[in-house]
Amino acid sequence: MKSNFYPRVQIFASLLIVLFLCTQSFAQEFTRTDTLRGSITPERAWWDVTYYNLKTSVHPAAKTIRGSNTISYKVLKPHNLMQIDLQVPMKIDSIVQEGKRLSFSSEGDAHFVRLQKKQKKNRENQISIYFSGAPKVAKRAPWDGGFTWKTDSNGKHFIANANQGIGASVWWPLKDHPADEPDKGMTISITAPKDLMDVSNGKLAEVIEKDSTKTWVWKVENPINAYGVNVSIGDYVHWSEVYPGEKGALNMDYYVLRENEAKGKKQFKQAPLMMEAFEHWFGPYPFYEDGYKLVEVPYLGMEHQSCVTYGNHFENGYLGRDLSGSGWGLKFDFIIIHESAHEWFANNITNKDVADMWIHEGFTCYSENLFLDYFFGKQASSEYVIGLRKNILNDSPLIGQYNVNSRGSSDIYYKGANILHTLRQWIDNDEKWRQILRGLNKTFYHQTVSSQQVENYIETHSGLYLKGFWDQYLRSTKIPTIEFAIKGKSIKYRYTNILPHFEMPVVFLVNGKEVRVEPTIQWQVKNFEEEVKSAKIKEDFYVYSAEIGNP
Ligand SMILES: [Zn+2]
Repeated sequence: MKSNFYPRVQIFASLLIVLFLCTQSFAQEFTRTDTLRGSITPERAWWDVTYYNLKTSVHPAAKTIRGSNTISYKVLKPHNLMQIDLQVPMKIDSIVQEGKRLSFSSEGDAHFVRLQKKQKKNRENQISIYFSGAPKVAKRAPWDGGFTWKTDSNGKHFIANANQGIGASVWWPLKDHPADEPDKGMTISITAPKDLMDVSNGKLAEVIEKDSTKTWVWKVENPINAYGVNVSIGDYVHWSEVYPGEKGALNMDYYVLRENEAKGKKQFKQAPLMMEAFEHWFGPYPFYEDGYKLVEVPYLGMEHQSCVTYGNHFENGYLGRDLSGSGWGLKFDFIIIHESAHEWFANNITNKDVADMWIHEGFTCYSENLFLDYFFGKQASSEYVIGLRKNILNDSPLIGQYNVNSRGSSDIYYKGANILHTLRQWIDNDEKWRQILRGLNKTFYHQTVSSQQVENYIETHSGLYLKGFWDQYLRSTKIPTIEFAIKGKSIKYRYTNILPHFEMPVVFLVNGKEVRVEPTIQWQVKNFEEEVKSAKIKEDFYVYSAEIGNP
């Protein structure tokens, strides 16, 4: 998802007050509900999801849904209590295993099912959960999450869900924790009034027609991110193309409301350009078997796996604006580029705990400037990512608190992008950097990972000591600051505001020429053959700098 930038500016002042009032700026209170939602409880740990078979009928007039989810799972160790998540006001109607109705007790949104069948290690079992209700209505999708019920200009229903953050359990019952994805994929069968179409993840396998309804059966072949599972219902027109990609022929399918066909056909030409740039930087699109789809929805957009949703009004920028202020943000459709990049970072490489969500948003925000780099060159990409810095708050660290479903600061976007851009400068070898980005997607293909795993991978493959770098930029809010002074034919410089183990070279522009130095907290002197008339830190490094008088 995209950060809620404009509303955020409006609440910025009140946020500052809240921060001011907090004596411990990073401390946050968490509840038992947060722990049940965000941790791998004993009732979750013993079973591994292998497949979801989700069937849901959608009733637009009543704004309700009803369905079942049959969960296939492997027993990792014997246990007889199973946690299933489904958020109120949605209701579990019954739970059945091998024909027997099971009892369960509920603690808020977590439901503990008492299994009767003996759960033997390594056995694969199934359990079906029947559910119904009126799912939470999203007031400002995609940020608050839930269902959006709208109509198009012809009065036809236009419905979609978005539930990053709040979670998939806002509408369907599952193990709602990012660490466990269904290894063999998922079937999503959505029943809707027959004059409408549903587009969900994966490939369309079957359409079952009845008197007044159609059921759209979508098959997902790969492990899928729960929050990425989606329903998009509307009076769609559809067209497609085959993209000759790194792994062969990739189906790219597009769906927009009938009234937007002409605009869609023009704007969605950016999708294959996106594919070209990101396959170059990150390696093959991670879900060839499931295809790539771009689908119009009644909200801004979301990285639904293999089914990117779109509501950016068929214009460039972020709702027509450039978040960087550099001008480059108007060269591409923010939602097509950003949400699609999440196929690599969020859907292919997924955080095990949302505390590490910078892996999703940092790399994806960074990908916007790699898209620019590919089509407009390095200067454009630098200006764009540097321009985004004005949105960084440095209010709390990028890494949030583990096991309580808590992501870090909204800085996971712009600061995340800038530290990756900074690291590219340090590595100073673009081909090596590209191979690291591709290597991440290959090594962690279809996996859920921790930030630590990503950090270690980059450290190993860059050959640099990065522990201090990661701790400084991900786990603290301190921005390394370079103090320097010009004196005749020399400059003196040192770091302040750094963690004890932080190290990173920076590039000075001295009389317009690049000079790489390795500052520490001790003053160092660099001598030149000519008088130093001007010196400044190259802007590509996300550090602060201060020219001071004689130190
Ligand atoms: Zn995003």
